[in-house]
Order: sequence, then C-alpha cells, then structure tokens
Amino acid sequence: MIELHGVTKVYSNGAVGLNNVSLRIEKGEFVFITGNSGSGKSTFLKMLYKEVEPDHGKIIINNKDITKMKKRQIPYLRRELGMVFQDFRLLPNKTVYENVAFAMEIVGASSKEIRRNVPVVLGLVGLSRKARCYPNELSGGEQQRTALARAIVNNNPILIADEPTGNLDPATSWEIMNCLQDINKRGVTVIMATHEREIVNALKKRVIEISSGQISKDVYEGGYDDEVEYSHVFI
Ligand code: ADP
Ligand code: MG
Repeated sequence: MIELHGVTKVYSNGAVGLNNVSLRIEKGEFVFITGNSGSGKSTFLKMLYKEVEPDHGKIIINNKDITKMKKRQIPYLRRELGMVFQDFRLLPNKTVYENVAFAMEIVGASSKEIRRNVPVVLGLVGLSRKARCYPNELSGGEQQRTALARAIVNNNPILIADEPTGNLDPATSWEIMNCLQDINKRGVTVIMATHEREIVNALKKRVIEISSGQISKDVYEGGYDDEVEYSHVFI
C-alpha cells in the first residue's frame, strides 16, 4: 500500500530529513515510527501527504507514484489520508459535529452521506454526546478524538498521526491509543510517529525507528528499546 524507494530529503539549511530510506507498509498495518527528536519522523510523514518533497527517490501510495503527482492532484491524495497532530487543529468556531461534517463537505459529499457518516464516526470515538460542543468546551482527549473522527469520516484508508498523544496526560493518551486500535481493527492502516516509550512497549506493533534520517530498526511486535536489530524489508 505504501512504498518508499531510496527516499532522501536534505533541507536547504543542510539538515538531514531522511537519508536513503526504503520501506514497505502493507494495507491494514499498525506502525509506530519512533526515534529521537529531530531524527526525521515528521519529515517521513509529511512526505506521505506531500507537504515535503523528496530530493531523490520514489514514494508509492496505492500503486500511484505520488512524487510524480501534480499540485492539483494533491487534494485527491489527501482524501486517502486522514491526519492528526499533537495540537488537534480543530476549527474553533465549529461544533464537534460541524468539524467532522466539514471534512466531508470539502470533498463534496452529499448532505445525506454527511448525516449518515458523522454520527457513526462520533459513536466510534465515543463522542456522540458531545456533538454540539465547541472545541473549547472539550478536554484534550475529547478534542483529539474529534480530530480522529474527522480523519476517518471519508472512509480514509490510511491514518497518519504525528505525536497524537504529545499534549495529553498518560490516562488520556491511552484513551487515544484505544481509539487508534479500534480504527485499525476496522481496516484502516495506521502510521503513528511517537517518542513515548511506554506506549510503544505496551502495544507490541511494528516499530520502525529512525535515527539521523535512516531506518535503524524495523521490528514486528516490537518495543521501543528492543536491542535486536532486524534488517528491514528492502524493496
Ligand atoms: P522529528 O519529527 O523526528 O523530530 P523532523 O522530521 O521534524 O524530526 O526533523 C528532521 C531534521 O530536519 C531535524 O534536524 C530538523 O531540524 C530538520 N528540519 C525539519 N523541518 C525542517 C525545515 N522545514 N527546514 C529546515 N530543517 C528542517
Ligand atoms: Mg516531529
């Protein structure tokens, strides 16, 4: 579903974003991208949604080479991808329901589809009773669950999460991790960047560790501090 072939990005100030990274992520996987701050995790995710372009290499998503994609095709790519971030990025003057519905409006969904899908995803993240609240009336966890609902409401097959628990206390972080696992069980491929060891160690998912822009570890059912280094899947 996602393939990187020799992907390299050096920023104009000389900082290395990614250095010759090749990997493959299959449909339905749950993958943690780990590594220290500045190692290249966000650069990797940003390349998937074309906020950052590689200098070299190829990125294929659903059989399409997105590095060749024209600017005007980017909205089509982003329909495939749901995204959540550390800082939630909700629209403050819209309710929970309206924030989620808006993601459908901008891709041209009918009001019938909107009335059908929005309650389903709000139910999935446990927010049916908060549908009329505004973001500033919600806890951090509820705001992030709203963002999760918005990220999957268009039946997006891939969910990209960049440090989604970074602003949350441990108990709330688990709430979000449970939602992410529920979403993954529905068939959505989940790719989550994090440097939180406890979360990675507890969940036993695939762990791809990046250091200085290169893959330093790729382990299935792994933990953050696994000593064993498996050679990752070169393609
Ligand atoms: P992480 O998400 O793992 O903390 P990033 O992908 O954000 O890492 O950053 C990788 C490296 O690229 C770091 O050295 C960072 O300073 C640098 N970097 C990231 N974004 C930019 C940018 N827009 N311009 C210049 N350097 C950047
Ligand atoms: Mg980052």
